[in-house]
Amino acid sequence: MSIAICPGSFDPITLGHLNIIRRTSRIFDRVIVCVMFNSTKTSPMFTVEERVDMVRRAVSRYPNVTVDSYSGLLAEYAKAHEGAVLVKGLRAASDFEYEFQMNLINKKINPSLETMFLTSDGKYTFLSSSVVREMAQYGADLSGLVPNEIIEDIERKAKQWRSHDGK
Ligand code: ADP
Repeated sequence: MSIAICPGSFDPITLGHLNIIRRTSRIFDRVIVCVMFNSTKTSPMFTVEERVDMVRRAVSRYPNVTVDSYSGLLAEYAKAHEGAVLVKGLRAASDFEYEFQMNLINKKINPSLETMFLTSDGKYTFLSSSVVREMAQYGADLSGLVPNEIIEDIERKAKQWRSHDGK
């Protein structure tokens, strides 16, 4: 059975992520979306539990996709899933440079681990979780940027953030 791991912070999941996950689910027998807690991203908008819950709702229509979370190194996580391939989305040349470097590091830790890249759909090359977070803070319409199932979650959280700022 072919297994793909789609890793990311998914803070929150966007339609760009979902596009990569959906296309991966057509190529592999099984896809594990792994929500990573990234120590370098200091103040996430959502907790890991919230992110996992939102990803689960967004991918529920794909029967061969499951959701997990992990706080360690991705290359270590992959060791537990023998033969699994990492699948990542590439938006721009800047993504490529970062991913190239990550791939070398992953290979050092886990030499048999392969990474495959899917180029971003043209509609989503501009889209990132940080763009969504920024737009949400200003109360912008999020339809067409994130899955409909999670729009309310983001709006609710953005409202909490605004009230904390005393706005
Ligand atoms: P972000 O960069 O939005 O914070 P993540 O760290 O969660 O996203 O990224 C997880 C993976 O999804 C990475 O491989 C990233 O390149 C990919 N990805 C993110 N946004 C898009 C998009 N709009 N189109 C294609 N791939 C994307």
